[in-house]
Amino acid sequence: MQIFGSNELIEDVHKRELCIGCGACVDLCPYFKNFKGKTSQLFPCTLEQGRCYAYCPKAEVDLNELTRKTRGVDYDGSPLGSYRAVLAARARNNMPKVDVQGGGTVTALMTFAMRSGLIDAAVLTDRQSLTPVARLVTDWENIGNYATSKFMAAPTISALNLAVREGYRRIGVVGTPCQMTAVAQMRSNPFGKEEHSVPVSLTIGLFCNWSLDTRLLTDHLSKKLDLAGIRKMDIPPPPANTMVLETDNGRVEVALSDIKPLIPHTCFICMDLTSEFADLALGMFEGKPGWNTMIVRSDTGAQIVDQARKEGFIETADFPAANLKHLSKAAADKKDRSLRTLLRRELINNENGRRAAVRIPPEVIKNILK
Ligand SMILES: Cc1cc2nc3c(=O)[nH]c(=O)nc-3n(C[C@H](O)[C@H](O)[C@H](O)COP(=O)(O)OP(=O)(O)OC[C@H]3O[C@@H](n4cnc5c(N)ncnc54)[C@H](O)[C@@H]3O)c2cc1C
Ligand code: SF4
Ligand code: SF4
Repeated sequence: MQIFGSNELIEDVHKRELCIGCGACVDLCPYFKNFKGKTSQLFPCTLEQGRCYAYCPKAEVDLNELTRKTRGVDYDGSPLGSYRAVLAARARNNMPKVDVQGGGTVTALMTFAMRSGLIDAAVLTDRQSLTPVARLVTDWENIGNYATSKFMAAPTISALNLAVREGYRRIGVVGTPCQMTAVAQMRSNPFGKEEHSVPVSLTIGLFCNWSLDTRLLTDHLSKKLDLAGIRKMDIPPPPANTMVLETDNGRVEVALSDIKPLIPHTCFICMDLTSEFADLALGMFEGKPGWNTMIVRSDTGAQIVDQARKEGFIETADFPAANLKHLSKAAADKKDRSLRTLLRRELINNENGRRAAVRIPPEVIKNILK
């Protein structure tokens, strides 16, 4: 893994417009802050190597090295990454009733994980008006307050930096694939220093095809509605082609063609649809409202699913083969599309001194491109 400092982070990530504002570099030091979805450096720093660069999911990410560290296998570019099982899942009776996005599996699993002592803190995402906000939650009763999807890129991982600073030792994190990549890099302790240890016990990743730029979306929607009155947002599966906002004054639909120009460019170089570095990955179950698709990737993930099922927090069912084929195709398409953009923009496996956003073995590139 190549590690540089904050000057290179600005050159490689901010100036190339690759920053997704994940929050991994925020509040590590006094210099990087996030305001309304944008991460900025307040003052220059002269360190030649920093955790800001090492943790960033958009700078010199060596997917083979990271997959070996996380899963013990090579990165092979397969559409869904390495996994043990794909299931249908939803929250069950023992889970307190809260408003959730799909089946509520994420909230049920995080609540169960904290109630049972697997985690002592949860890193979640809240929303103030349209601005997504990182939250550190330490009471299981409060986890449900931060359910539902905020479809804007969020600085969630800054709350993990806060949790580490506050001394939590068994942290659970929910986040998008880019955030899960950052967390995997943090857990790998790139500098090998005891004081840099990031004690994460559970990661629940979300599926994500793209997110929206908070500032652009705020400008766009503030012309149409009162942002403070938004209660919930949803992007129903095709053929809906809309974003649906539930507001104090009723339901508002916005055409996807109007909001797609608000997707940050960096989402178009992102090859991960299904949070390949998480213990568990959750998405919607297309065609079965009230259920989630759940990918079980690790021992930790399998154990928590098993226990939560036994304790009546979630239920699971078989995931139909036709849906799995559809999901794999969507994931393969995202990899293919993004890899082509990475190649076109010369952001992958660069030699000759130009630093890369992503590194993967050349033979894997051939496997991904159809
Ligand atoms: C930007 C974005 C894009 C998505 N795209 C897809 C997609 O293309 N296909 C698909 O199947 N699913 C997608 N999802 C996931 C989906 O919307 C649900 O989050 C997922 O199915 C889990 O449902 P649930 O009912 O278990 O979630 P809930 O129990 O309601 O919990 C949702 C969790 O997500 C966290 N969260 C909310 N917003 C964010 C955010 N911006 N960043 C990080 N964490 C957040 C909350 O803290 C909460 O813990 C996306 C989610 C996001 C945030
Ligand atoms: S770590 Fe996240 S917030 Fe920081 S520069 Fe990288 S993408 Fe942006
Ligand atoms: S598409 Fe990728 S970079 Fe964009 S928000 Fe989703 S996971 Fe992050």
